[in-house]
Amino acid sequence: MRIFVDIDNTLLASSESEWALRPGACEVLAALQGHGHAVYLWSATGRAHCQRIAEHFGLQPFITEYFDKDPDCPIKPDLIVDDDWYLVQKYSGVLVTPFREPDPNDRELYKVLAHVGIPIPTS
Ligand SMILES: [Mg+2]
Repeated sequence: MRIFVDIDNTLLASSESEWALRPGACEVLAALQGHGHAVYLWSATGRAHCQRIAEHFGLQPFITEYFDKDPDCPIKPDLIVDDDWYLVQKYSGVLVTPFREPDPNDRELYKVLAHVGIPIPTS
């Protein structure tokens, strides 16, 4: 499947002074790719923002491409991961609670693995 993952408040909590990656981000993106899915990052903040975040957190090995979140996106998602209920209804996918503050106990991203039938790592 082509899985499109949102950045802001889905993978990333950002404030003026820091960026925090959501717990499980690397593990979940790696597992999706490892099970043969193509993972895309997209953002209404733009393609460059996606690339910057991926580079900052070392996510590039798991990502196929980066896009501006736009209805004219050249590739259509089979499934999206987003904190925006409206978009999840529109494209179908996994709704996650908005990640606004760093929280080491957050497990929301693992819902994606459950959704596509990948066993959740126990570590
Ligand atoms: Mg968002």
